[in-house]
Amino acid sequence: MPFGFRRKHKQKRRAQTDQSPHNGLWMRCDFCSSMIYRSRVEELLFVCPDCNYHFPIPAVARIEQLLDEGSFREEGKEFASADPLLFEAKEPYAAKLKAEQERTGLTDAAVYGTGEIHRLPVVLCVIDQSFLMGSMGSVVGEKICRAAEVALARRRPLVIVSGSGGGARMQEGIFSLMQMAKTAAVLARLAEERVPYISVLTHPTMGGSMASFASLGDVVIAEPKALLGFTGPKVIQQTIGKELPEGFQRAEFLEKHGMVDMIVQRDQLRDTLATLITYLTPTTEAPPPRKAVRGTQTRVAAPSAPAK
Ligand SMILES: [Zn+2]
Repeated sequence: MPFGFRRKHKQKRRAQTDQSPHNGLWMRCDFCSSMIYRSRVEELLFVCPDCNYHFPIPAVARIEQLLDEGSFREEGKEFASADPLLFEAKEPYAAKLKAEQERTGLTDAAVYGTGEIHRLPVVLCVIDQSFLMGSMGSVVGEKICRAAEVALARRRPLVIVSGSGGGARMQEGIFSLMQMAKTAAVLARLAEERVPYISVLTHPTMGGSMASFASLGDVVIAEPKALLGFTGPKVIQQTIGKELPEGFQRAEFLEKHGMVDMIVQRDQLRDTLATLITYLTPTTEAPPPRKAVRGTQTRVAAPSAPAK
């Protein structure tokens, strides 16, 4: 986990704000600090009208924004993290998990299932940042793998919306780190089977998430101003002792340097995904490859039926 504990409280406060969008008429933008009218922000799908900052949103809201109404069928809802290391910090991991489950109504940070975008079938997996900062524990890794396996079995495109300030979940130690290899392996199978995978990066996507499944999309989309990287810019600056270039690790900087394919406004994301899926999904089954038998290949094509 590249971030320290200091950020946890800030993140938690922000997540709680996001979970209760009707709480108060005004809210403060995390990016430009403007006081903004909450209903206007809601109209813009939780985007700041002053600076275009895209607020983190809960998985449920994201699914509603992206999929056709009523098309989502959640799978793997029963999976919940165990506490394999009996980890204890300020409070035991088991107690923390229980509190997060009660607060968010989720069993863990990932939600996946099947659905449709403009009637195009997809498998969608969304990471909810309000659950332990969207960190990747064994359940998040398992859900990503299962989503990919559904995509493989049904030959549907896979869309993963990432968002993790914490990267791999430190409370699960090596079990979390192994999810990086596990998710990368299943996504390699998708690539071999030519099933499209579109990765959507939201603010922030960091650590082990960015270093594995989040950056492995056939197409990598980012929301504007999203902070994306392995370690945060402050830590890098302190380590190398040099000023970092302006906009370092922001989506726009990464797009300019080839790490991100496109930056898409939240209100355009659904249409953009539909367009990309149409491009990436063949409309007809490809013909099976012809077997060439040595010495018997015909050089002249068989005559076709005369035109009527
Ligand atoms: Zn703003």
